[in-house]
Amino acid sequence: MEECIFCKIVKGEIPAKRIYEDEDYLAFHDINPQAPVHVLIIPKKHIESLNAAGEEHRALLGGLLLVAKKVAAEMNLKKGYRLVINTGPDGGQEVFHLHLHLLGGRALAWPPG
Ligand code: AMP
Ligand code: ZN
Repeated sequence: MEECIFCKIVKGEIPAKRIYEDEDYLAFHDINPQAPVHVLIIPKKHIESLNAAGEEHRALLGGLLLVAKKVAAEMNLKKGYRLVINTGPDGGQEVFHLHLHLLGGRALAWPPG
């Protein structure tokens, strides 16, 4: 995926404020934060969206949630947080590399807009 912006971030070709990294995952601050804490957590492997994930990604998807929990703890989100996966046009997905939004640092409204 030559032109995928998140693959470029993984490769270090585009800068990002990285806050967590391991062999399979990367977390970095969203460039356009919607809350005091707005972090994106991605698998390093390019998967277009949740809809493109299959049974073979079961462990990778589970690991993504565990990384999110770890990052939330590191960001000191003791009062809670929200995880979001925008999927497809109605979901508001703009970047087609699977990512989890971690939002926190203020009380978040429900339902979302
Ligand atoms: P989504 O609408 O779920 O696809 O979310 C894409 C998110 O990626 C948006 O919140 C953008 O602000 C964010 N984003 C786009 N480009 C970058 C970048 N270069 N660094 C950090 N976040 C980005
Ligand atoms: Zn990608």
